[in-house]
Amino acid sequence: MPTAPSLRRTKIIFTLGPASQTEEMLEKLILAGADVARLNMAHGNHEWTRMVIRRIRAVSKRVGREIAIMMDIKGPEIRTGDVDSPIELKVGETFDFTVKPGDREGGEEIRSVNVNYKDIVNDIKIGDIVLVDSGLMRFEVLDKQDNHIRCKVLTPGALSSRRHINLPGVKVNLPAFTEKDRLDTLVGIEEGIDFVALSFVREAQDIVQLRKFLTDHNSKAKIISKIEDQTAIANLDEIINETDSLMVARGDLGIECPLEDLPVIQRRAVKACFNAGKPVIIATHTLESMISSPVPTRAEITDVANAVYEKADCVMLSGETTVGKYPLECVQTLDRIARRIEQEGPFVFAEPTFVKGDKLKLLHAAVQLAHQMPDTGLLTFTRQGNMAGGLAALRPNLAPIYAMTNSVETLRQLRLLRSVEPFLLEHQAHPNRTVEGALALLTKTGHVKVGDKLIVATDMITAERLVDSIQLRVVI
Ligand code: PGA
Ligand code: MN
Repeated sequence: MPTAPSLRRTKIIFTLGPASQTEEMLEKLILAGADVARLNMAHGNHEWTRMVIRRIRAVSKRVGREIAIMMDIKGPEIRTGDVDSPIELKVGETFDFTVKPGDREGGEEIRSVNVNYKDIVNDIKIGDIVLVDSGLMRFEVLDKQDNHIRCKVLTPGALSSRRHINLPGVKVNLPAFTEKDRLDTLVGIEEGIDFVALSFVREAQDIVQLRKFLTDHNSKAKIISKIEDQTAIANLDEIINETDSLMVARGDLGIECPLEDLPVIQRRAVKACFNAGKPVIIATHTLESMISSPVPTRAEITDVANAVYEKADCVMLSGETTVGKYPLECVQTLDRIARRIEQEGPFVFAEPTFVKGDKLKLLHAAVQLAHQMPDTGLLTFTRQGNMAGGLAALRPNLAPIYAMTNSVETLRQLRLLRSVEPFLLEHQAHPNRTVEGALALLTKTGHVKVGDKLIVATDMITAERLVDSIQLRVVI
């Protein structure tokens, strides 16, 4: 019998780009254990989107490991317009952001750039800070008129076309789900994506709107809410309550919030997700130095370890796998750190507050049992993923959660969840046969061997009717 390598609990998301989208590299990343591929729609067009989704599905099928696909839509992002050539800004220089190109009374001596957000003039106050190009350039607002805001350059730089603008603390009055998002999501739905990540979520209503769109178009894709600014932090609880899962988008958060607040926000978000039983992703700058270096910095190792200690569901790679020189090494590095840290305590976690209702209490008891019986695994059967999701949310310390599903869509969505190893298995008419089929499959794939114990949490065992149950099975 083959022996399957021990399972990694923490899941790995990688962002697609030139460095990772070839068939050859995709195959390597999938075999190295990457769980979810992310498409960043701030960059991709529709032709590219369809091409890479189909390619991922084909490679997954060929190598026999289905991974999930996340479409990350752009949301209400503010950007500068086009410039003919980069504008070299100097400290102290006066500079205008205009909302209508060529319609400004600034005088020729003051340089300017257009902005795609016309309400900037109403929403911003004199004294506010404007950050451009991921916070590289800083401006202070001196004055505002109908069609422009006048600023002083605090931190200089070269301003090129279509740079990202952040307005820390400003409540931006842009739609949560833009026309571009709508069109992108439609393509994603057609191609069968598993997750939609909504950028710059600000309140629960934003999620409700996206969910309605998905339901109206018969999509079962799950929603990942990206918290990226101060409004999202203020509304964190209602966002977590409404969403399927959360992404701590540290790139924009680190610009929109005081940088020293970032670890506090991360910890608070992970804890709130734990209490609500929702999956959480730690994203951005995870192994940033590995964009150009084959090894991470010591600080990056410790940052990833921290996410694993916190029992986050996933860690995410961005630039590391879109344009980096070492995409495979990045996945391998995350894999190594996660496996090592998962063996460490502390294993005493507070009880989550979401455990209400009989079914969740039963799953809770199953996880408790796993804690009392080291070296056991959990086994569950799950059509929509709810049973496996419940077990994962209860954060078993070391026990893997073997989740048997008859739906490939569910299997892919389960890739996001901590500790869950999903398998495709047809459910038999008699529940006992299904359990036996699962044990045979786990034995065949080397995940368990004769004598191993499994705690089976299932609602399928029955004499004449369905009964919720926990069973202790010994593999024979
Ligand atoms: P982005 O989101 O990569 O789409 O900007 C992640 C982040 O801001 O951290
Ligand atoms: Mn972002």
